Amino acid sequence: MKLLENKVALVTGASRGIGEAIAIKFAEQGANVAFTYLSSDEKAKVLEEKLVALGVKAKGYKSDAGNLKAAEQLANDVTKDFGTIDICVNNAGISRDNLLLRLTEEQWDEVMQANLKSVFNLTKQVIRPMMKNRAGSIINLSSIVGVKGNGGQSAYAASKAGIIGFTKSIAQEIGSRNIRCNAIAPGFIETDMTHYLKDGGAEKWFEKIPLGRFGKPEDVANAALFLASDMSLYVTGQVLQVCGGMST
Ligand code: NAP
Repeated sequence: MKLLENKVALVTGASRGIGEAIAIKFAEQGANVAFTYLSSDEKAKVLEEKLVALGVKAKGYKSDAGNLKAAEQLANDVTKDFGTIDICVNNAGISRDNLLLRLTEEQWDEVMQANLKSVFNLTKQVIRPMMKNRAGSIINLSSIVGVKGNGGQSAYAASKAGIIGFTKSIAQEIGSRNIRCNAIAPGFIETDMTHYLKDGGAEKWFEKIPLGRFGKPEDVANAALFLASDMSLYVTGQVLQVCGGMST
């Protein structure tokens, strides 16, 4: 028996990186997968084909996570196409790293909209079908930087810390409806977002990571699978750190 058989999962920002790994992991475990992207049309098409080849229903939607109207439209379209939404992974995100003295208002706003407002936008929509089902799992991608902070990443860290506060509050608000809401706080995961970290030599980072390596998107996807599945039915309002022990 697969862990997500017959569940409908919506994953934002799945054309690349962690989101893509989550979409594939969920499909391998039997979930029908709706996913979004912003501009990577070709990659989204390839992913859709890959998911369908795994024997599930899958569809990519071009939808800006930072836009409330787009989130409303997305939730309606997915509910119409897939029948319901059982699992929502708010994964879409960006980074605009800069020291505060150089950080512009535009950069701050861009990060807040794509990373934090996006979580508000879609969570507000998906709790409707979940309340109807009296079941659901919402998983928000925070970051270890949202827990610890990091010089040069004040906007990104603030958006990711905001996600933790939001996650814990929503867990309290909708727990009585059997809807769970948890966050994942990854450390350094090898994707396009962290590509630049390797430029200065990966080894200096490895000293700070007890497991001695960067994480892989699949490491995060495994944690998402746990939180999405009935294996975590009594887990809500938590922040699962997937960071190779970096925060300890
Ligand atoms: P990534 O490789 O840069 O991929 C980002 C994904 O998000 C892409 O699919 C992109 O779509 C999509 N996206 C960006 N802005 C969007 C928007 N406004 N609307 C819809 N989709 C949007 O990033 P990643 O490393 O996989 O990160 C995924 C999540 O994990 C992010 O929330 C990130 O903050 C978090 N995280 C990552 C790390 C890490 O080390 N990588 C660590 C901690 C937390 P397009 O391809 O169309 O642009």
